Amino acid sequence: MNKNRQLAIEKIANNVRAECKAADYGFYNIFEATEKIGYRVVRYPIGSDAFLGFALIKDAERIIFSNSSLILSREIFTVAHELGHQKLHLSEQGLTIIKDNDFDDRDEYEVEANYFAACLLMPREQVDKFIRHELKDKSIAKLSGMDIARIQTAFYVSYDMALIRLKALGKLDNTHLDWLKLEKLENTATRLLSAINANIDLCRSTEAKKVPAEYLEWVISNYNEKLIPIKSLETALKYVDLEVADIEFLTEVEGAEDESFDDLLRRMD
Ligand SMILES: [Zn+2]
Repeated sequence: MNKNRQLAIEKIANNVRAECKAADYGFYNIFEATEKIGYRVVRYPIGSDAFLGFALIKDAERIIFSNSSLILSREIFTVAHELGHQKLHLSEQGLTIIKDNDFDDRDEYEVEANYFAACLLMPREQVDKFIRHELKDKSIAKLSGMDIARIQTAFYVSYDMALIRLKALGKLDNTHLDWLKLEKLENTATRLLSAINANIDLCRSTEAKKVPAEYLEWVISNYNEKLIPIKSLETALKYVDLEVADIEFLTEVEGAEDESFDDLLRRMD
């Protein structure tokens, strides 16, 4: 990625932050913010060995899926990365889906989406500000594991992501980076976070099951209009731990098959 492209991506990420009114250090509730700017966010625990997420355009809708079996800090990164694909790579006329099994791919699009996520979650200015004001302008050679955990909490990122970004911003040299990686082995990020009363548990998975309300309304109306059989409705509701009995205004009817939310998810496997 050349310098011009880097700067362009940085600018797009900054615009997204402005659009989402992200004024804190980190990006508070990226799930909600991403929905507010027009994306459909689907979170589902598909297992810690399954794929991480995907970005998709379907019927003019922009969809972001994230696997909530991953620890929260990684899931937040997934949404930021998929948002990068949506902003940088997908279009109605061209590529409409990118699925991520991991984020280690050196493919150009993957490098760009990772860079977008880093700029979105830990913008250069905010990192500078945090070190200056919250860490009292501590010399970067003196940053401790506890400081990294504080950065991690303020920016809602994983310990590793905080280290990688600080290194990329020239805040850490290799020797200190290696030392901080060792410190992580001694004090796990989880214990560091609980030691400083972190208000969100970035080190655990949420197993969240979250689909946009519109999807459920859509499935239910398809059922009411006899476009899908009750079995499809049941399957769709099961995804979010609901039963047909929970949807009291439904009447029993039988109708033709149509694509359901279930099919949408299954197609991604
Ligand atoms: Zn990707």
